[in-house]
Amino acid sequence: MSNQEPLFAPALRHAFEATSYTTDHCEVRIGQTSKGLDQLLSAAATTCAAFLTAFNPGARRTAPETNDLNDKALLQTLKATVKDPAWLIATRHVPDDQSAQAFIERGWLVLGLQPADAVEIANNFGQLAVVCAFFGRPAILVEVPQTPPVPWRAGVDRSDLSHWAWGRAGGAESRQDAAAMATMVASLLGCPERTLNSHVPCNVADARVPAPRLRANGVPECIHFDDATRARHTYGRSWPDQYRAAQGDFTAAPDAVAMPDSTLELQQVMDWAGSVDADIVPFGGGTNVVHAFQPLSDKQRRPRLVISTRGLRGLLSLDATNLLATFGGGTTGPEVNRSLAPFGLQLRHYPQSWEFSTVGGWVATRAGGHFATRYTHIDDLLVSANSIAPAGEIRTLAVPSSGAGPEPMRALTGSEGGLGIITEATLRVHRRPRFKAGFNAFFTNYDIALDACRRVLQSGLTPSSCRILDPREAMLNQVDGSGRAILLLGFESDSDVGLDATAEACKRMLMDLADEIVPVARTTRGDADAIWRNAFLEAPYLQPALACQGVMVDTLETAASYEQLPSLRRELIRTISAAALEQGCPALVSSRMTHAYHDGASLYLTWLTLTASRNPTAQWSHIKGAATETIVRAGGPITHHHSVGSQHLDGWRRQTSPDWVRGWMAMRNSLDPDGRMVPWLLCDRD
Ligand SMILES: Cc1cc2nc3c(=O)[nH]c(=O)nc-3n(C[C@H](O)[C@H](O)[C@H](O)COP(=O)(O)OP(=O)(O)OC[C@H]3O[C@@H](n4cnc5c(N)ncnc54)[C@H](O)[C@@H]3O)c2cc1C
Repeated sequence: MSNQEPLFAPALRHAFEATSYTTDHCEVRIGQTSKGLDQLLSAAATTCAAFLTAFNPGARRTAPETNDLNDKALLQTLKATVKDPAWLIATRHVPDDQSAQAFIERGWLVLGLQPADAVEIANNFGQLAVVCAFFGRPAILVEVPQTPPVPWRAGVDRSDLSHWAWGRAGGAESRQDAAAMATMVASLLGCPERTLNSHVPCNVADARVPAPRLRANGVPECIHFDDATRARHTYGRSWPDQYRAAQGDFTAAPDAVAMPDSTLELQQVMDWAGSVDADIVPFGGGTNVVHAFQPLSDKQRRPRLVISTRGLRGLLSLDATNLLATFGGGTTGPEVNRSLAPFGLQLRHYPQSWEFSTVGGWVATRAGGHFATRYTHIDDLLVSANSIAPAGEIRTLAVPSSGAGPEPMRALTGSEGGLGIITEATLRVHRRPRFKAGFNAFFTNYDIALDACRRVLQSGLTPSSCRILDPREAMLNQVDGSGRAILLLGFESDSDVGLDATAEACKRMLMDLADEIVPVARTTRGDADAIWRNAFLEAPYLQPALACQGVMVDTLETAASYEQLPSLRRELIRTISAAALEQGCPALVSSRMTHAYHDGASLYLTWLTLTASRNPTAQWSHIKGAATETIVRAGGPITHHHSVGSQHLDGWRRQTSPDWVRGWMAMRNSLDPDGRMVPWLLCDRD
């Protein structure tokens, strides 16, 4: 057995493999496909299934009554789990060995049950493994970890989430440390005496939501018209979006919200949108920061129907040999990892918004993950994707590589809903890396750190983590206060061969540039990596908490060549500081490099200022507008990973060839002749 497979006792594996899992309609064996099971799955319009039993080897010595009791308890659990009672089918697990000791277990075939859920249930019933299957694939044995399952934070209903801020309802409002932090920011800005314009966010029940322009009569069941649901699907999570929502301003609320559970239902919802002449807005995790769900202008438009992809979530298929996993478009980051965990696999795509953003949203916005090289954008992990538009579908081949013309899948990446709703995506998944090596290098300033980064990338080394924090970013995140820039470098692999040697070679390469090189976990302030990671995860929660206390915090990002990046960085810091001052308060601007390439890198800036007492959205727009203009003039992309949305549309148009935009619109029109799919995004006219 290779060290990459789960450590599973061979005798136990053999016992499972020497058993047939039998129902009245199908017989399933581990490692084999089953036509009967595929027919059941296809009739139920689902893709996965699991065989569960409450019996276990120990149960042979258990009294029959106890087995019956366990079986009843299992049945109760399963009834509460399955969508349709017909998805629960009685089974017999029959061993090949028909000797006297052979024991036929009773069990249940559960259609539509995700492996991660099957593992959790099996764990509660003392099972060591479960048999899982996906449509068209050989059945697999999935080991059940013999530890209590880790509580699952995802899978939340949106009604658990705040209607205005990042995270759960009430989280930002109740942060005890926010007031002290706001006072500290005012002090750092040199305005310690200034009164902070704090505000109490409005309650969702008090949200001002206009009456829907669509009628609730005779509509598909999954469409909702109530104010609270419409309020929760109004905004993304940019600073102005959060501010408006906190003020209770939901004048931009959609007219209805659909939550289809299947592609069939999605199609019905789209047909209904056509019949009532409504625009369609795909909604994944709602985490975009580019004002994607409405146009910037107040121009009167058609009624808007938001289609949430939450019902289209889950692991749809796993190819454990080629390490490919297909997910429903509405699957969030924690759900992705939870479904892969039983197989010892991970996607390794961690945008900072991972907790709530979705697979479909990542593809639609070309999201950038935490890793600095190799798989930076979701594009690098995507193998194929399917989408449904009002007048057509895009289906792409799941192949390792193809040279056959422009790749249709690449049109879907970054389409921002313009080519329809991405219903599923097949992604390359990875074994959890077992070996890590790395160090932190300190430099006199940011420019030298960037030059060091260039050396590393151009040498052909591909560190998984390669992040530069400028001195202010290091200070604000409490990583280091020495006034130097830090390059955080990390390497990881499934094999330890050469990992330390690679890190050493990299270290030697930087000796003459660095002020100091410190192994990870032995930096002056403790483990800089760990401190940085915590700050990274904490930041989305902190931003709205500070907003309540009168501090405006926002970020922006672009990219540039190694040669141009230092001057663009300086120019942006200067522009943002000046624009903030014009609005009556200085700004603290810090920067980091998040992704590194052969020829350049991304540039990510964070700015903090105090919220003006009058018209803070105009204050924000003034600063954002000045920064955007600087980026466009310098020729940096209008976004590196936050996407275009309404916010960057003007910059996108200025940077994109008009003929290309015409071609793009022609493709949109062919799939959506009435122009219903988010017509204000990535479009040629307002
Ligand atoms: C705190 C914070 C941190 C962030 N960090 C990162 C980061 O590290 N990297 C990064 O890239 N981005 C980041 N973002 C931005 C955002 O999270 C990403 O753009 C993310 O990919 C959006 O996913 P979502 O599911 O929330 O999409 P949504 O916000 O719901 O939608 C975004 C756009 O995609 C469309 N869309 C959504 N789902 C689908 C679908 N299934 N089919 C077709 N169109 C669809 C929507 O109509 C919309 O135009 C961050 C945002 C926040 C608030």
